[in-house]
Amino acid sequence: MERPKQPDLDTRAVHGPHLGTTGAMSTPIVHSATFSFESLDDMVAAQAAGSAGAFYQRDGHPTIHAVEERLAALEGAEEALLFPSGMGAISATFLAHLKSGDHVVCVDPCYGGTQALLQWGKERMGWSHTFVDSRRPESWAAAFQPHTKLLHLESPINPTLVCFDIAAAARLGHERGAFVTIDNTIASPIGQQPLALGCDVSLYSATKSLGGHSDLLAGVACGSRAALAPVWKAREVFGPIAEPTMAWMLERSLKTLPLRVRAGNANALELARRLAAHADVAQVFYPGLPAHPSHAIAAKQMMEGFGPLLGFEARGGADAALHVVNALKVIRHGASLGGVESLASLAAHTSHKMLGVEGRKRAGIPEGLVRISAGIESVDDLWADLQQALAKAAVARV
Ligand code: PLP
Repeated sequence: MERPKQPDLDTRAVHGPHLGTTGAMSTPIVHSATFSFESLDDMVAAQAAGSAGAFYQRDGHPTIHAVEERLAALEGAEEALLFPSGMGAISATFLAHLKSGDHVVCVDPCYGGTQALLQWGKERMGWSHTFVDSRRPESWAAAFQPHTKLLHLESPINPTLVCFDIAAAARLGHERGAFVTIDNTIASPIGQQPLALGCDVSLYSATKSLGGHSDLLAGVACGSRAALAPVWKAREVFGPIAEPTMAWMLERSLKTLPLRVRAGNANALELARRLAAHADVAQVFYPGLPAHPSHAIAAKQMMEGFGPLLGFEARGGADAALHVVNALKVIRHGASLGGVESLASLAAHTSHKMLGVEGRKRAGIPEGLVRISAGIESVDDLWADLQQALAKAAVARV
């Protein structure tokens, strides 16, 4: 029998499960931490249903589960689990899949919070880790040890937007007996589908593109039922549970996710092209530009563009970068990404501060790298803002 075609991503973003019997288009926010039952059998069934059951909010909750189902549908995953932050999702997944004495191979530089988690795990949990250079996947095989249990990936990598072949990395991890996780925050499920490329769990800071309006903190883990069962257990044991109102806000945001991601990605590409041709710009980091070292692999594995993040170095280095960021008006100075509002930040003072000068040098991050997260404003307004900021930096330079 022919299986019905799965609706396209745009349709899956708009139409999720419907709760209740009223026909409400919007999921009701169920403000109840516990639930009552007609019989013990009903209660046992709700308990057994885990995240899909309505027994007690720390185990499962209808408003939270509605957004989990929509997230799983967007990701092409069997299941998704919602967390109150991206780090909640990442730490629960690591805690679920690592035991004392286990070793992790992790791409470098990965998100700073994940590095802090690995350091914490080393000090408190008996984990060990080896960082591998994201620019040299051919060197990664040597990092695996007999007790390597997890390979953690991130592509594109903030803020140089280095990408690598995710399918090949997942194959390598599996050949070496590792569970493969990926932080897919920058691309979003609209831009990249890591489970289809062979990863076991795809992780998000939903604070970024999934939420998209800079008004909520959330995290998501997506994967098969088997991959997420221990993650659900870690969530239940440690208790990082989302609030129904946040879940509702996230669900509402997901309905416009494809539109927002496409618009932000298109703006990022256009700004990258214009910056690359600007006399006061020394270099641009964007995988959508053919000159970027990762362009070919990004074009192969990314969808709907190359993500909302780009980096550039103004002529004049760190001083010029500071002048640019201080002069921007439409593009706001702040440390996040994937929102409808464009944001600029200095990598050396925010996301990559903890690396120090030497660490940034090793990772190929210039001291004057300005990171832009392109929002959905008019690209001409964003460009005019960047032009006037670059002009001010150029005047300050002479
Ligand atoms: N992963 C990436 C790539 C991020 O940029 C962030 C936050 O900036 C996180 C994870 C952590 O997410 P949260 O701040 O929601 O805990």
